[in-house]
Order: sequence, then C-alpha cells, then structure tokens
Amino acid sequence: MAELNDLPIRDSLKGRAPYGAPQLHVPVALNVNENTHEISESILVDIISRLAIALKAINRYPDREFTQLRLALAKYLGHDLNETQLWAANGSNEILQQIFMAFGGPGRKALSFSPTYSMYSLIASSTDTAYVEIQRPERFELSAGLVVEAIREHQPDITIICSPNNPTGTPVSLDVIEAAYAATSGVLVVDEAYAEFSLNDDSALSLLDGRERLLISRTMSKAFAFAGARVGYLASDAAVCDAMRLVRLPYHLSALTQAAAEAALAHSHEMLRTVEEIREQRDRLYVAFQDIGLDPYRSDANFILVGGLENPDQMWTALLERGILVRNVGIPQTLRITVGTEEETSAVISAITDLLSSK
Ligand SMILES: *Cc1c(COP(=O)(O)O)cnc(C)c1O
Repeated sequence: MAELNDLPIRDSLKGRAPYGAPQLHVPVALNVNENTHEISESILVDIISRLAIALKAINRYPDREFTQLRLALAKYLGHDLNETQLWAANGSNEILQQIFMAFGGPGRKALSFSPTYSMYSLIASSTDTAYVEIQRPERFELSAGLVVEAIREHQPDITIICSPNNPTGTPVSLDVIEAAYAATSGVLVVDEAYAEFSLNDDSALSLLDGRERLLISRTMSKAFAFAGARVGYLASDAAVCDAMRLVRLPYHLSALTQAAAEAALAHSHEMLRTVEEIREQRDRLYVAFQDIGLDPYRSDANFILVGGLENPDQMWTALLERGILVRNVGIPQTLRITVGTEEETSAVISAITDLLSSK
C-alpha cells in the first residue's frame, strides 16, 4: 500500500495531520463537548415521523434553499432576524469552510487568538488561506486593545473570535466584538458554538443590525444534543448568504438533515431543557476542582479547562483506565473536561480526587 506522501498531493497539505479526537467507547465520554443527555422519547417520535415524510420524496433533490429550516432557525434565534439572514450547513465546520472559501483563499489571511478551536487552522490550510494566531494573555481573557492591535498589525481578511472560547471556556464581552468589527475591513466571524450555555446575554446577534461584515456561527451539535445530525448555521446580513451560495455544493443539506433539524427546532424549548442542569454541573465541577487544589478556568461553556495538573498525560491515561475519556488539548498542566450528567460529574470528581490523593 502507498503512503500519503507517495501521492501527488497539494504542497500545502504535505505533512499535515487530520483532525481527530479519539473515538473510544467508554462509559463516561467527556472529550468532545457533546451534550451527554439523550433526546427524549417523545421528540424522537416526532423526528422519526418527519423523516418518514421526507423519505417519501427521497427520489427528488431536497429544497436547495432549505427555506423551512431557515425560517425555523430565524424564529429560534429571535433578534428580529428573518430567514434571508440565516444559512445552514452540515455542522458549523462546514459553515466555517464555506466562509473561508468565500472570503479567504490564496493570497488572503485569517486571524484568531490562541489557544482556540483547532479547526480554524486546519480549514485555513485546506483552503490555502494564510493563518495567524495571536497568543491570549494569562487566563486567556481577550481585551479590545489586544484584538484591535492584532487586527491593525495583520490586516486579516477573516478574523475569528470564538465566544465562549474552545478549549478555554472564556467568554468574550460585546465591547471586544464591537471594537474588532470597527478595526477590520474584512469579515469578523464570532463562533458561538456554545452560546446557549452562557448565562450572560452576550450574544453578538444583538450587534448584527447595520454590520454587514459580521458573521455569527452557531451549531446544533452542543446545547441541542444533535451532534450526530450535523447541523450548523450562520446568522448575518443576507448578502453573506449570497456569498455562501457561490461556494456551497448544490443541494448540500440533505432532505433528511433538513427534516430532522426542523423537527428538533419545533421542540427547541424541550431540547434545551438540559442546559440549566449542565450549567449547574459545570459550577459544581468548578468548585470541586478548586476544593482539591486544582486551577479551573472561568467557563461559560459546557466544559472546563482545568489547570494545576502536574502530569496531564498520566492523568488522562489513569482516567481512561477508569472508563472516563477527557481531552488533552496540549496546554501545559491542563485537561479539558466536558460537563455531563450529574452522575458523570460525580464520577469525574471522585476519580480525580482519588488519583491525586493516591500519588
Ligand atoms: C464543537 C464546535 C463547533 C461545532 O462543530 P459542528 O461542525 O457544528 O459539530 C464549532 N466551533 C467550535 C468552537 C466548537 O467547539
């Protein structure tokens, strides 16, 4: 069998590693920030019945404009948005890829603030977009001054601010977003994959009016407990959706995806029922980590980056041996732990407490 390097692959892809959090089957999987609560039986029944209707017409291409889904997304988000301002794709990763295809590419540059979501650099490289990451200060909090200075220096075509930030959980205040937008002539992408977990009313959706270069990326993979369905979406000026139409593949959202997402959105209140409980478990986890002498970072998301671990690799392995999978994102002395159910939180707390005291 040939190796990757034997192929006439594009120079910019040579030596690259694919995205790949381990997909292991363990009792307590807290490594990719999913909502670990299953969807309720009654909603599942409704989703299935809508899938059945979609299947009857599966010999035909789906609605290329997914108008019903965009209407449902606009209604869910509020903020007086209408369906022309909504776009959707197979996960917000595809949204980000479409943004890079439309606004990035050869000769263009993207900017973000590390540590942040690892897909930004991967999508930049697969679209041949130059990519710059500016290091966040201690505790990973972003200030308007730091962001504006980086934008002035690098003049990016795409600036991405992840809020709350993955993998640190750090919220970003709206004055930072406003200042970043004012400083750039490119597009500003605010990745709000975890927005529903924030208690603050700090979504950049409230800034959309009059800002045609502001793009807000969202997903149904996290709070909505819908990761397997692959539905991400974008809220922006309608002109940005026109840009997306230039780069998307025809009929990119399957009829089954559209039907499932519409059904889930029809039950958004019930689908988000677990968010409050996850926030409670997040706060419980934070306090527990402090109590055992660790150093958790402030988080507005459904995960906590916990510092103060002498040997995170060893802790990662020891937890896995106990059936608990977490994430080592490569930040020294830390692990990132998704907030799960009450039982899962108890399992993590007692395992880590045990492992630290038995050293
Ligand atoms: C999980 C995550 C996403 C969501 O990806 P999907 O493709 O929608 O599943 C996007 N951005 C960040 C920062 C994430 O952590």
